Amino acid sequence: MTESRKRIVAGNWKMHGDMDFSSELAGAVAAGASDYEHIGVALCPPFPYLAAAAEAVEGTHIHVGAQDVAAQSGTGAYTGEVSGQMLRDVGCWYALVGHSERRSLFGDTNAVVAAKYQAAREAGLVPILCLGETLDERDGGQMESVLAAQLDAVMGDDADVLSDAVIAYEPVWAIGTGRTATPEQAQAAHAFIRGRIATKSDTIARHLPMLYGGSVKPANAAELFAQPDVDGGLIGGASLNAEDFLAICAAAAG
Ligand code: PEP
Repeated sequence: MTESRKRIVAGNWKMHGDMDFSSELAGAVAAGASDYEHIGVALCPPFPYLAAAAEAVEGTHIHVGAQDVAAQSGTGAYTGEVSGQMLRDVGCWYALVGHSERRSLFGDTNAVVAAKYQAAREAGLVPILCLGETLDERDGGQMESVLAAQLDAVMGDDADVLSDAVIAYEPVWAIGTGRTATPEQAQAAHAFIRGRIATKSDTIARHLPMLYGGSVKPANAAELFAQPDVDGGLIGGASLNAEDFLAICAAAAG
């Protein structure tokens, strides 16, 4: 990790928990994360629990993030959607955009992800753009072309859109499977993504925090975060347990 890049650990709670669980988990992380104030910590609960989580972490350095955001801005006849402005209103700082489960289960194409990314930025949210290849794509030698297409859909010719953003590299084959990318595999993918951004703007590439996601646990976090282009983690399963999540924060804090 380069000194100029902030380390971030973000928890993606997915569709888990209820109101009590969310408040308690956010409160427990808030109580324990005061030791790690020099890293960014984010919690992404389901939409109905965002406000409660935001309240539980109020006054701490922890931020709350949404797991998705509407591609449409403001208000309108978009049944079931939640706009970036609404997310800001309930205390969100971040929004995940393009998580592989949104892409594979809910039809978020690269174009939709790009629209959501732009809407998040326009609302003043920090997008956490998720990129990642499937096992078939990796085995077929397509990892770089898939990552490039996902990145380019958002970046286009203007890397400025990536300023004040975060990227999460999450190989689909490592999400929720218990099969983590090796530190070398994570580093290679991160270096590829950073290098591609650097072709447009070296400054933005150098400053962009890039998280690894995919079965990160307390036992493997430190070796992943030791890679030069890995600046933290996007954590699914292990973020549902305060002790595990805080141990991963400790690994990022170094
Ligand atoms: C995720 O869903 O973003 C994720 C990384 O999940 P897990 O840590 O459970 O693999």
